[in-house]
Amino acid sequence: MSAKVYPNLIKELKHYGLKNATQCYHCGNCTGVCPLSTDDNPFPRRFMRLVQLGQKDKLMQAPEPWLCYYCGECSDHCPRGADPGETMMVMRRYLTSLYDWTGFARKFYTSEAFEIGAVSVVAAIIGALFLIFGQWSEALAKPGIALNIFAPNHVIEILDLIMAAVLTFFLLSNVWRCVKIVQGDMHGKIPMKYYKDKFIEMVWNMASQWQFSKCEDKKQWVVHLLIMTGYSSVFLMVVVGLRWFQRDAVIDPEWPIVSAVMTLVGYYATFAIMYGTTYALIGRIKKSKAPYKNSHGTDWMFLILLQLTTITGILVHAFIYLKWPMATYVIYMIHLMVAVPMLVLEVPFAKWAHLAYRPVVLFLNKVRLAYLADHPEAQTAAAVAEPVEAPQEAPQAEPAA
Ligand code: SF4
Ligand code: SF4
Repeated sequence: MSAKVYPNLIKELKHYGLKNATQCYHCGNCTGVCPLSTDDNPFPRRFMRLVQLGQKDKLMQAPEPWLCYYCGECSDHCPRGADPGETMMVMRRYLTSLYDWTGFARKFYTSEAFEIGAVSVVAAIIGALFLIFGQWSEALAKPGIALNIFAPNHVIEILDLIMAAVLTFFLLSNVWRCVKIVQGDMHGKIPMKYYKDKFIEMVWNMASQWQFSKCEDKKQWVVHLLIMTGYSSVFLMVVVGLRWFQRDAVIDPEWPIVSAVMTLVGYYATFAIMYGTTYALIGRIKKSKAPYKNSHGTDWMFLILLQLTTITGILVHAFIYLKWPMATYVIYMIHLMVAVPMLVLEVPFAKWAHLAYRPVVLFLNKVRLAYLADHPEAQTAAAVAEPVEAPQEAPQAEPAA
């Protein structure tokens, strides 16, 4: 099957962080040591080849970049320093920008100035709204903390739901494009039964990140799981349960059990995010292991915004506890100036989007494999999954350290 060649692919991928992929001489070590590579989905060597050959169409439809969790074992075993783990990461950035119909993702990944500018503009708008519409004098005139007067729950809740609706629209429309691209010719041809059969498995994988646990470095899995569960619980509390989450007291006398549960979940999320992001930030600063050696601007922005959101959230909580009204209102405003850009920009268009793409592509891959197992005649329609030519003389893979 002939495939169109994109001679500028490597040049384009360099904007997304590609560095040493041209060094690869296809020994196959990386695929040999990768704990997640299978006969049905061999990677990452195949992708080094596709990149070198400018095979953009095959890259676009391939599920493998989302099957990689960037444990870094392949990069540690590469004799050429071609960094295949980072190449898979670059693929995910590139695919995220191809799935996004608005063009924002591409801008985010290829221009640090654009990303910083966009985050700053949204933060400035939120700050200005608080300065203009915040009920500063009314709240300060009340004894104790009056967060619900300073920023009334019902107003924040409506804005929250509008934000969630907009965010969902962008994210789901991009996910739908991702589904169509990844399924290619098989889109709409697989019976619903296969999707139903694999659905529970997808939910389990999403909640446990079980695939990641198969990698040698279990700590990376734990850190990933902490950040993911911490962030998801806060997201749910803010979007679905804001009226119970935003309170003037740590335990609300009107909702003692609900507010106690919210507080406990909030403590877990705070610990999980702070531990996970601090570990990752220190790792990136020290370049302590393969996944942290090359940091793209979006990696820093992701961690910094998440950590700042958590720190300002801790301060709001502490100031409510200490009954310092002015400090509570100011830090609450700053908290939203950090959290809102993270939610409206980073979730649908940048690194956060992988939370949606990865489980969806893993799911589609399982569905496709189950369908092809029952219908081998459909294999030609899935020719994109075939590995490109095997290496001439692939040496024996070294065992993972
Ligand atoms: S391990 Fe071998 S095949 Fe893999 S990236 Fe390095 S040189 Fe290429
Ligand atoms: S980073 Fe880990 S999961 Fe990804 S390709 Fe390399 S060895 Fe496999």
